[in-house]
Amino acid sequence: MNEVCLLPGPVTLSAAVQAAWHRPPLYHRSAEFMTLYAQVRARLASLAGCGDVALFAGSGTLANDVVAATIAAGTSPGRGLILENGEFGCRLVAQAARFGLMPRVLSWPWGRPWDIDAIAAAFDDEPAGSWVWGVHHESSTGILNDLPALMALARQRGQRVCVDAVSSIGGLPVDLSEVALASGTSGKALGSCSGIALVFANRHKLGPLDLSRVPTYFDLHAALDHTGPRFTFPSPPLQALAAALTDYATPAQARARYDHYQFLGCYVRRELRRLGFLPLTGEHHASPTITTFAPPDGTTSEAFVELCHGRGFLVGGQSRYLSERRLVQIATMGALERTDVAPFFDDLSPLLPAARTPRGLVNTAQRRIAAPVEAAGRCAIR
Ligand SMILES: *Cc1c(COP(=O)(O)O)cnc(C)c1O
Repeated sequence: MNEVCLLPGPVTLSAAVQAAWHRPPLYHRSAEFMTLYAQVRARLASLAGCGDVALFAGSGTLANDVVAATIAAGTSPGRGLILENGEFGCRLVAQAARFGLMPRVLSWPWGRPWDIDAIAAAFDDEPAGSWVWGVHHESSTGILNDLPALMALARQRGQRVCVDAVSSIGGLPVDLSEVALASGTSGKALGSCSGIALVFANRHKLGPLDLSRVPTYFDLHAALDHTGPRFTFPSPPLQALAAALTDYATPAQARARYDHYQFLGCYVRRELRRLGFLPLTGEHHASPTITTFAPPDGTTSEAFVELCHGRGFLVGGQSRYLSERRLVQIATMGALERTDVAPFFDDLSPLLPAARTPRGLVNTAQRRIAAPVEAAGRCAIR
């Protein structure tokens, strides 16, 4: 059966990206590889309006580890601040701790966006030149946090901003021109395979660093300064990412891609509401690419995932941080059209009790999730 992938990764690959992945391997010191590597870096930097970007062979978590290592290598990193309103914010706290950082953590319950006023108040307690780190698109809840508002605030207060843009980059316009550091991945909204961790950097925002004690592989300055990769780098994910980036080659193409994602996300949320499911996140803060919701009462996340699988659709719900809270999610990233997604709602609606008794069904879980007790983040990975 031809399954429709509504997971936040792996995502549906276009034929061009798949073909690029399957090209014969290139030696990572060859001229062809070096040209492609430089081209991919330049395209990514320009897509995000960022000064530079380093590539590492690995997943998004590696990019966040590099960010944490780099913050910790600041000659006076200070206390700093982490913003946490979901699983991935929670992981940043854990990752920072591993590099000896002990930031103040501002937390909000799952499904609530950053509170900009609370962040402003917290900045008042931070010395100028301190840092703040948060997740732009919190993939666990589908919330899009207000990065432009955070940037504006940080500009006024002289704070350095680091962002986890792993699931936002490629999914909507993301302006990284004023951040110090940001993470991304090849395998989500950019529409390629996973395997390349992206670390965006504006060097003049980094301040003095002592990278001599940072693990060799994580040395961001060295990675940025090197023309090609510092170490062995697999060519399939690079070739696939280069192919995926052609969808963003001109501003008009990028715009069309973002509009398409926006359209699909609206469609998914509208259809879910029509079937009686309430997205965890309010429309105003909804990300275009991931929608999280509770399955019908009495149905576990795993059972819902199985039900969908039986109908030919792969949906999210197997991650512990979702199943523990009885949540599932639909992501529309990569080469998906409305016509791919529409049968999901048509096929499932007769099977779901929610379709017969709209409303009510999702509300118990909804209330449970929104309860403040959930705010004290227990993250799945430490
Ligand atoms: C997926 C994701 C990560 C982790 O990426 P991996 O590729 O699983 O290592 C980190 N942050 C966010 C926001 C993500 O969506």
